[in-house]
Amino acid sequence: MKRVVIVGVGFGGLRAAQALSGKGLDVLLVDRNNYHLFQPLLYQVATAVLEQESIVYPIREIIRHWKGIRFQLAEVRNVDLERRQILTADATIEYDYLILAAGSITNFFGMDTVKRYGYDLKYLSDAVMLRSHILYAFERAAQRQNLPEREALLTFVIVGGGPTGIEFAGALSELIHHVLSKDYPELQVKDARIILVEAGGSLLLTFPKKLQDYARMRLQQIGVKVRLGTAVSGAGPSRVLLKDGTWISSYTLFWAAGVCAASLADALPVMKVRGSRVAVKPNLTIEDYPEVFVIGDMAYFEQDRQPLPLTAPVAMQQGEYAGRAVLQCEYGNSVEPFRYYDRGSMATIGRGAAVANIKNFNFSGFPAWIIWLVLHLFFLIGFRNRVVVLLNWAYDYFFYKKQVRIITQKGREAESETY
Ligand SMILES: Cc1cc2nc3c(=O)[nH]c(=O)nc-3n(C[C@H](O)[C@H](O)[C@H](O)COP(=O)(O)OP(=O)(O)OC[C@H]3O[C@@H](n4cnc5c(N)ncnc54)[C@H](O)[C@@H]3O)c2cc1C
Repeated sequence: MKRVVIVGVGFGGLRAAQALSGKGLDVLLVDRNNYHLFQPLLYQVATAVLEQESIVYPIREIIRHWKGIRFQLAEVRNVDLERRQILTADATIEYDYLILAAGSITNFFGMDTVKRYGYDLKYLSDAVMLRSHILYAFERAAQRQNLPEREALLTFVIVGGGPTGIEFAGALSELIHHVLSKDYPELQVKDARIILVEAGGSLLLTFPKKLQDYARMRLQQIGVKVRLGTAVSGAGPSRVLLKDGTWISSYTLFWAAGVCAASLADALPVMKVRGSRVAVKPNLTIEDYPEVFVIGDMAYFEQDRQPLPLTAPVAMQQGEYAGRAVLQCEYGNSVEPFRYYDRGSMATIGRGAAVANIKNFNFSGFPAWIIWLVLHLFFLIGFRNRVVVLLNWAYDYFFYKKQVRIITQKGREAESETY
C-alpha cells in the first residue's frame, strides 16, 4: 500500500487527510502537537473571552472515523527528498507522497529586540502568555504610585493594521473599557491607551476602501489611536522605538506585522519567495519532485499575478486539492492546475462590529459581525467547542463579562534597559 505522509494538522493538512480518507492509501499525519488549533480565535484567548480548550480539538478524535488515516506525534526536523524520507528526533519515516503543511511563524524582520520584548500570536501558549501579561500589567499599575510608569503599564502598542492587529485592538479595547475598568476602581482605566501602529498608508490593505475607512472610524470610536505611516524599529522592556527616532513608553508590544514560512521550509532545496515561502508549481508540487506537495502558509502561489494570501480558506482549498491530486496521480490521470476560489474576507472590530467583503458585496457594522460569528462557529471543529464558544460569546455580549481573567504566567518582568 502506498504511503502518504502529511506534515501538519492545521487547516491544510486536515483537509488533505480528509480527501484521502477511505481511498485505499496508508495516510500518516505527523504534527508536533496532538491537536488542531483554530488560530483565527487565538486573539479571543489572549483577551480573556475564550478558554484555550475551546479553540483546539484532539487530532485522534477528529480522525477516529477517517479510514486509513493514522497520526504520529513528532516534530519533523528534516526532509530527505532523494530518499523520500522525513526525519524526526528519533525516527525516519518513508513516504511515496509527501504533503508539507507546516504553516508559518511570526516574522520579526530581523529585529531582535522586538522579538525579545514583543508578544505575538501563533501558538496556544502565546495567547495564554499575552493574556497573563495584559492582566499582570494592570495588577502592577494598581500598585505603582509613579505616574509615568503607571502610564507605560497602561499603554498597549499593537503593530500591524491587518485583520489580526485590528481584531486584537477591538477585543482589547472591549476588555479594558467594559471589564477591567470595573475590576480596577483604583486606576483611571479610561486613561489606558491602545495605539495601533501601521507602516503603510491604510488599514486592512486587501479590503475595499469603504471598509478600510469604516474600520478606522470604528477603532477610533472605541478609543484605539491609529497611527498610519509609522514603522517600529526596535523595543525595550518598557518602550517601543519608532523608525523616526521617537518612542512610546509601553510595557506591551503586540506584533502582528508579518509571518514567514515555518522553519521546515529551509529543509527544501528549492526557491523561496517573500518570507521564505516555498515557490510551488501550478499543481502545488516542487520542481523536480512531483511527489512532494507544499500547501497553505508554507507555499508561495501566484494566481492572476497576485500572491495568494496566507489564510485558512487558501490552506483548506490547497489541502483538498493536494489530496485529490495524489489520488489522480495514483490513477494515472493528469491533474488540473490549482485555482483558488475566493469567497471573501472579514475582520471584527470589537463588540458588535465587523467588516466583511463577500463575493464583492461589502458589509460593515452589526450585520458583518453576525456573518463573522456564524462562519467562525461553522468552521470551528467539534460540537462541544461550538456550544462553549457560542455560550461564552452570548454571556459576554449580554453581561459584559469575560470569564477567563486569570493570570497563569507572570509575563515578562521589566528588565534593565538595553539601549
Ligand atoms: C492570530 C492569527 C489570526 C488569524 N486569523 C485568521 C482569520 O481570521 N481568517 C483566516 O482565514 N486566517 C487567519 N489566520 C491565518 C490562518 O490561521 C492560516 O493561514 C492557516 O492556519 C494556515 O494553515 P496551514 O495548514 O498552512 O498551517 P497551520 O494551520 O498553521 O498548521 C500548521 C501545523 O503544522 C505543525 N507543524 C509546524 N511545523 C512542524 C514540524 N516541524 N513538525 C511537525 N509539525 C509541525 C503545527 O503544529 C500546526 O499544527 C490567522 C492566523 C493567526 C496566527
